[in-house]
Formats: sequence, structure tokens, C-alpha cells
Amino acid sequence: MSENLFDALNPRERLLMGPGPSTVPARILKAIGSPTLGHLDPQYIEYMDQTCEMIRRVYQTQNPLTFPVSGTGMAGMETVVSNLLEQGDEAIVMINGVFGGRMKDMMQRCGATVHTVEVPWGDTFTLQHFEDAVKQFPAAKMLAVVHAETSTGALQDLAGVGDVVHQAGMLLAVDAVTSIGGHDLQVDQWGIDAIYSGTQKCLACPPGLSPVSFSAKAIEVIEARKAPCQSWYLDVSMLKNYYTGSGGRAYHHTAPINMVYALREALQIVLEEGLEQRFERHRQMHLLLRKGLEELGLQYIPKQSLHTLNCVSVPDVIDEAKVRQRLLHEFDIEIGGGLGVFAGKAWRIGLMGHSATEKNVTTLLAALKKCL
Ligand SMILES: *Cc1c(COP(=O)(O)O)cnc(C)c1O
Repeated sequence: MSENLFDALNPRERLLMGPGPSTVPARILKAIGSPTLGHLDPQYIEYMDQTCEMIRRVYQTQNPLTFPVSGTGMAGMETVVSNLLEQGDEAIVMINGVFGGRMKDMMQRCGATVHTVEVPWGDTFTLQHFEDAVKQFPAAKMLAVVHAETSTGALQDLAGVGDVVHQAGMLLAVDAVTSIGGHDLQVDQWGIDAIYSGTQKCLACPPGLSPVSFSAKAIEVIEARKAPCQSWYLDVSMLKNYYTGSGGRAYHHTAPINMVYALREALQIVLEEGLEQRFERHRQMHLLLRKGLEELGLQYIPKQSLHTLNCVSVPDVIDEAKVRQRLLHEFDIEIGGGLGVFAGKAWRIGLMGHSATEKNVTTLLAALKKCL
């Protein structure tokens, strides 16, 4: 440990092009530094309501129960899983990377019997996979899938999935941590009943909150639970009194006030740019990076690549960790290594939010060329 415990905090300015967090714009850092209000102060409640309304716009949903969970993306996952499932339930989870696997683990801890449908890492599911899954496991209460699998860089097409799942009488739950603010995400149109995401990926905000949203059908399921949600902190039936105001703003836990300021600012930046324009910018930057990486001889792992996270395999002759270290220490650029089965074999390059610019793509490609 450093001896200089009382030195001023002085982190370096890095270019964050890994799997998150992404680079945070100054406007958002300034918002965090605004005066802290009380969590029941009418002015704060107004900021929070505005934040929830902006989350609805970015999620493209009318769901009244839409709010930022106090915690990172994993807390959002836990909110969805622990409120919708209980002892004795059955659930289906589609697994094609790390995060589907984590959902399975959480579901089992909730006492549910979990059925999995797996394809190799980097692949995605076809509509047929979903049709077969609900037929094979008709007693399941919900089907969960990851929209943007950050561990493999694969984008899951969700068009039509909601209909398949609903016709089987199940709820559709979606992990959108790496797609929110970077890829089109239509919660109502796609029939998503429960969704969670994070702030530190394409919203370009520091980590700390997880926007979630629940459909009317999901709320019915929560209200019909036999036992209370085993997580007290994440129990939506209590949280909704604070976030949606029905029945007054009762104290549950102290909201992370300054993080909500940051998220509000981040969402405002997203909406100022425009959703369509923002998705298009991420697409363009992905194409630009892709061209450069392929010119360096690197190959993308997933067939359906995310625009927001680019996962390429690293040839055996290259020491992937050493290259990442050089990028960090000589160029102040962070990219990610492989996760799970891709550990030591892949790079994960994020083009998220504020980091997805032509200048950054060019800078990274030039630095990478020097390191190879
Ligand atoms: C980052 C991520 C998470 C977890 O979010 P944390 O903020 O790290 O808790 C969950 N799912 C996906 C797809 C992610 O990319």
C-alpha cells in the first residue's frame, strides 16, 4: 500500500475503450458535484421523476414502474430475478456467454428450477430456439435472455421473441446493460416484461445505478407472490412507493442522490443527441473500427457483432495481456481482455457512449499498430 495516504486524489485521464466503464463527459462529472439534497426534498423528487421519465424514453416504454435501482447492473439483474421468481417456480434462461450463466445462478438461489438453452459462446439464438424452448419447458414462468452479451460481443435479435414467450403464457426478461443508449431497444414494441441495464456502458455515466422497468403483467406476477421477495433491499413492492409516488413517497433507503444527478445529466445528453442519431453514431464507429482491426489481421468472434463492444480473437503469437498493458501504460488507453472461455484469447474493445468517436477509434488503431 502507498505510504502517502493523505495525497490528493489524482487519477490519470484514461481513454476507456473496454467493456465498461466508458469515458465520462465533463458535464456529467459536474452534475455529480452539485449540492446534495435530502432524498425527500421536493426538488430532489422532481429531479428523480424527470430521471424516471427519461429512462422511459430511452427504453421506449410507457411502463409506470420504471426507475434506477441503487446499485450497478448486477443489482438490476438481481432485482428482476428475485422479484419475479420464488421457491418452486420454473424458469428458462438462454446462455451464450457469462451473463446468461449469472442469471441461472441467481435464479437457482431464488429456489427456482432453471432450464437452460445453450449455444456456443459468440453465437446467438434464432426464433426457432425460443419456440422450441417454450414448448420443451411449458411450466416456466419466465424466459430470460441477454440482448448484448458483453463477454462475447454478440447482439441478440429480439424481434418476435415477446410474442413467442407471451403465447406460452410466460414473461420475457432481458439484460440490456450494454445495449441501452447504444443499440435500438424497444421495450414496449418487443414485449419485454422486465428489463435492467447499467449506467457505465453506453450511457457514459459512472457506475452505480441500474435502470429497470416492469410491465403491467410483471407487476401482476409480483403482486401474486406466495412469499415476500427474499431481498429486502431490492423488493419492488416496497420500492415502488418511493419511485412512482403511488401512496406517497415513503422512505425505504436513502437514494444515491448525486448518482441520480449524474444519470439525469447522462440521459439528457442521450436525448439531446437523439436516439436514432446515437445508434447510428455507434454503428458508424463500429464499422470504422472493424475496418481498421481487420486490416491489422484481427478477426471478429461473433457473427452478429454488437456495435458497442467489439470482440476479436488474438492470434497465438501475440501476448494479449502484454499488449493491453502497453496500451494502458504507454498510451493511457484501456481495452478489455477475454472473459470466461475467451480468457487470454480475445480483446474486447468498447465503443460506448462518449468513447465512440472517430478520434478515439483512430487513436486506438494507431496505438495498437505500434504495439503489434
Ligand atoms: C456489465 C454487465 C453486467 C453487470 O453490470 P455491473 O455494472 O458490472 O454490475 C450485466 N450484464 C451485462 C450484459 C453486462 O455487460
